[in-house]
Amino acid sequence: LAKKSHEIRLQDSKVQTHPCYSKDAHKYARIHLPVAPACNIQCNYCNRKFDCSNETRPGVVSKLLSPAEAIHRFQAVKKRMPELKVAGIAGPGDPLANPAATLATLKGIQQIDDDVHLCVSTNGLNLPEHVDALAELGVHHLTITINTLSTSIASQLYAWAYFDQQRLRGLDAAEAIIEQQLKGLSMAAKAGILIKVNTVLVPGINDASLPELAKEIQQRGAFLHNIMPLISDPAHGTFFGLEGIQGPDETQLNAARKIAGVDMHQMTHCQQCRADAVGKLSHDQSCASQQLDASIAT
Ligand code: SF4
Ligand code: SF4
Repeated sequence: LAKKSHEIRLQDSKVQTHPCYSKDAHKYARIHLPVAPACNIQCNYCNRKFDCSNETRPGVVSKLLSPAEAIHRFQAVKKRMPELKVAGIAGPGDPLANPAATLATLKGIQQIDDDVHLCVSTNGLNLPEHVDALAELGVHHLTITINTLSTSIASQLYAWAYFDQQRLRGLDAAEAIIEQQLKGLSMAAKAGILIKVNTVLVPGINDASLPELAKEIQQRGAFLHNIMPLISDPAHGTFFGLEGIQGPDETQLNAARKIAGVDMHQMTHCQQCRADAVGKLSHDQSCASQQLDASIAT
């Protein structure tokens, strides 16, 4: 039944024109608008720095934008790139830890282009309280990063969470993160939003727990599962609690996708884009974003 409903949803034009949700949509482009600097959790694999070189990974941007600048960038890029179909907010922190900037940007874009797909990526901690606002704005695509259902594993992956005006650590942080993620996933699915769950594969930490995770997100209504390799190259920054852990090789990644694929359709073409990515997935132009802004200004 789940497979059948996935096949039906694949025919949805909003799936067929979103390059991340459908491999066949590679001719369409997406833009990530970096309006969300703060984060409400600390993942042990994240090092959010502004890039000083050609880095391609989430959490990295060349320049933060205000909502007005982001809307302006969207308009300018759309003029040059008619194949632009997706406007997403993916950081460099967590979009829902910066709700005013995120919602203002989405609203501004929706007012000037009601054909574009609005997309948001979140760690899920603040998702339940914002599901209604996202649905009202017409956000149709949502990514939630859920790495495990186990609080003991999560306490190795997250250093802290800022929730309910308190800084939580250890198992308390892990419990709040997982509870909010699952609650938000169910609420968003009920609101009709198409949900992709991202999972960062950290070998030896969360790989064994993938089958139960895939089953749970399938039951709660996720559409797609994207297992992404931990980026462990030392050049990409310090890992606060995961020193010495190497990212998975191709064989480990494929094995994880196969196991989780029993319950969830797997995305295999993710490029782990930066928070200011622009263009088609195969031809990212985010490194040129500063030149782009300079040429927009002229
Ligand atoms: Fe970094 Fe994203 Fe984790 Fe925040 S949620 S710490 S931005 S990876
Ligand atoms: Fe798509 Fe992955 Fe890039 Fe997000 S990070 S825009 S899912 S390819």
